[in-house]
Amino acid sequence: MAIERTFSILKPDATRRNLTGKINAKFEEAGLRIVAQRRIQMTTAMAESFYGVHRERGFFRDLVTFMTSGPVVVQVLEGENAVLANREIMGATNPANAAPGTIRKEFAESIEANSVHGSDSPENAAIEIAYFFAGCDITG
Ligand code: ADP
Ligand code: MG
Repeated sequence: MAIERTFSILKPDATRRNLTGKINAKFEEAGLRIVAQRRIQMTTAMAESFYGVHRERGFFRDLVTFMTSGPVVVQVLEGENAVLANREIMGATNPANAAPGTIRKEFAESIEANSVHGSDSPENAAIEIAYFFAGCDITG
């Protein structure tokens, strides 16, 4: 197995409820390292671009409004099989379907306000990391 990096966002519902530490503990307990992290306010243009793949979906406008409704924490997580490992730590998109112990099961408010984003493939992880971080910001 290879050491890999994935991109993560702690969404506005998580920062609003002061859950940054509790969610980060989930990553660290599962063996992922937070090798870069920054708290930012997403602009509408950033959220539209980041979620561009969902532009035609009915929930797109609401999603952009939600993602710009408060600060987010953007992160790079590193570890064995980090992309897949993080998707397991996060749980299913809809918290109603998320497995016990996952971040979304424990913390998500709804299918939209579901506390975390995680890349869905190594290819997308590389694109998403490069969108938010310069190489010199990441220390493994
Ligand atoms: P994931 O974040 O699990 O990769 P998607 O990429 O399918 O899920 O969707 C991106 C984000 O859009 C979700 O995390 C969630 O915030 C929002 N979303 C997805 N499906 C819905 C839906 N049916 N209604 C409202 N928001 C949704
Ligand atoms: Mg996705």
